[in-house]
Amino acid sequence: MKVIKKISEMHSIAEEIRLSGRKIAIVPTMGYLHRGHASLMKKAGELADVVISTLFVNPTQFAPNEDFEKYPRDFDSDAIIAESNGVSYLFNPEVKEMYPDNFNTMLGLSGAAKKFEGAFRPSHFQGVATIVAKFFNATKPHYAVFGQKDYQQTLVIKQLVRDLNFDIKIVIAPTVREDDGLAMSSRNVYLSAEERASALILSHALTTATNAIENGERVRKIINAIMHQTLRSVPQIRIDYASSCDADTLDEPDDFLPGQHVVLLIAAYMGKTRLIDNALISIPEQDNIKPYYFVNQ
Ligand code: AMP
Repeated sequence: MKVIKKISEMHSIAEEIRLSGRKIAIVPTMGYLHRGHASLMKKAGELADVVISTLFVNPTQFAPNEDFEKYPRDFDSDAIIAESNGVSYLFNPEVKEMYPDNFNTMLGLSGAAKKFEGAFRPSHFQGVATIVAKFFNATKPHYAVFGQKDYQQTLVIKQLVRDLNFDIKIVIAPTVREDDGLAMSSRNVYLSAEERASALILSHALTTATNAIENGERVRKIINAIMHQTLRSVPQIRIDYASSCDADTLDEPDDFLPGQHVVLLIAAYMGKTRLIDNALISIPEQDNIKPYYFVNQ
């Protein structure tokens, strides 16, 4: 595996790969790699001939009060994990390489990017979309693999690709979890033993709400209340949002209808650590559960 620091070098390598007729898949990451990232790298290897991973803690997606400075970093371990999961090029630029002093262009987003994460972290997705667009240009991929773990981010990236006409196929890989259900995250390292145990409540709330939908619950407010009630069983939790919505648009209808794809989204603080998780569930096309307002008609 080769470590690349400069955009110009990344350009030449990507161009050479393309000219030789080989396909490129990229996996953008902020490092402190775990099995979730590794699964994306393996998926990228199934899709393309050459896997490029980007390793860059992107300052523009952190607000001034967030954890950019103390975001966990471990280059040596990341290099081993990337190489052993089939990455041929690790693009690891310095901040100044991506954002030189005269950098003046940031993307502007609207629509679903403004909801949920976008509402609680107003400049976050602008930073994400801008750096991902820059990585697309630097690495010239045919495929880019992202994790369902950051569900709203996958919608933002798909929108970016549509709106700016990137000729890149976006592939979403499932969330990798610890044995007990906690979604893997680089930020889990911040959790104390007690917080780590309590953090399980996020996946538990998603399972409880998923079960309610499977058992026929279709009313959004009730599904949301189930998640809130479950989360609040842990006293030290602070909920940013716990909501069910349309998985494609993030719209919030009163009731979910047959054939609708639903996503359950949670963001909550456990102590000082902000965790996010989500679950996807589809309402059956032949739904024999009638929304409550049809019952008496
Ligand atoms: P990050 O390094 O946290 O920015 O994440 C880089 C990529 O890895 C993103 O596409 C994430 O969605 C994905 N990712 C993070 N955690 C997981 C996980 N537990 N399972 C699958 N993908 C993940």
